[in-house]
Amino acid sequence: MGINQIRDHIYVNTEYDGTNVACINTDDGLVLVDTPMLPKDIAHWQEFINRINQKEIAYIIATHHHFDHIIGNKTFGGRVIMHEVAKDEMFEKDGTLRESMAAGAPGRTKEEVDFILSQPLVSPEITFEDEMSLYMGSVKFRLSHVGGHTAGSICVYLEDEKILLTGDNLTAGLHPYKGHANFKDWIEALKWMKCLDVDLIIPGHGEVCEAGELDRFIEYFHTLWFMTEDLIKKGIGKNQVIAEVREKMFGFFDVDPESLEASQMMFDMGTDQLYMEIMLSE
Ligand SMILES: [Zn+2]
Repeated sequence: MGINQIRDHIYVNTEYDGTNVACINTDDGLVLVDTPMLPKDIAHWQEFINRINQKEIAYIIATHHHFDHIIGNKTFGGRVIMHEVAKDEMFEKDGTLRESMAAGAPGRTKEEVDFILSQPLVSPEITFEDEMSLYMGSVKFRLSHVGGHTAGSICVYLEDEKILLTGDNLTAGLHPYKGHANFKDWIEALKWMKCLDVDLIIPGHGEVCEAGELDRFIEYFHTLWFMTEDLIKKGIGKNQVIAEVREKMFGFFDVDPESLEASQMMFDMGTDQLYMEIMLSE
């Protein structure tokens, strides 16, 4: 199910419920970037990993602290690396969003939701602030703090392979969750990623894509920003701003009809966050 070998030593799954996950098989052991969260997906990914390499998982790199990216960490083991701020965000009240959002997705059983809610959060062994490099076998991982989607969001660049793992700063073809966003930082993060020499992007959600998807996201965020700012300048109230932005921008990406309502709600949370950011920056 859904496992995509994009290089000899790099595997991705984009079909689990939740984040995309990647496994990089190095001579010094396995490195995972984000982990699946449902028991069936964890079992599937674990079984696959055992097949390609019997070594233990050396590191789990968490792109940020949201529950759909980190709940599996306990089961997989391995030393967790995340941004210093993401560690703090994870332990805030409902910081991972699992209490407020785990039950909201269509198709998740009660047992699955209970599993998400019951898993202990794994504190990272290693954190960093601006940049860190991890050398494993012949693979160089360059981890960079970019913020944007969340204050502690990072991206992972595999320089020699020209592969970029963006976390949720890029969710190819899908509206990203923007309720914890700093929009100015997000636009900067996308522009910064565009300067890297990249052949393939492994996004936080959505299909593996090429660097051109970054342009689509920059356009999306610029449009959202200027549209919202214009409406605010006209003196329109927040609820009407949110409704108008949804009217004009919700169609920017296709949305699964099954999760239409939840997607609209999340989209509106993002506009609310943007509204606040613009108001505070005026
Ligand atoms: Zn996220």
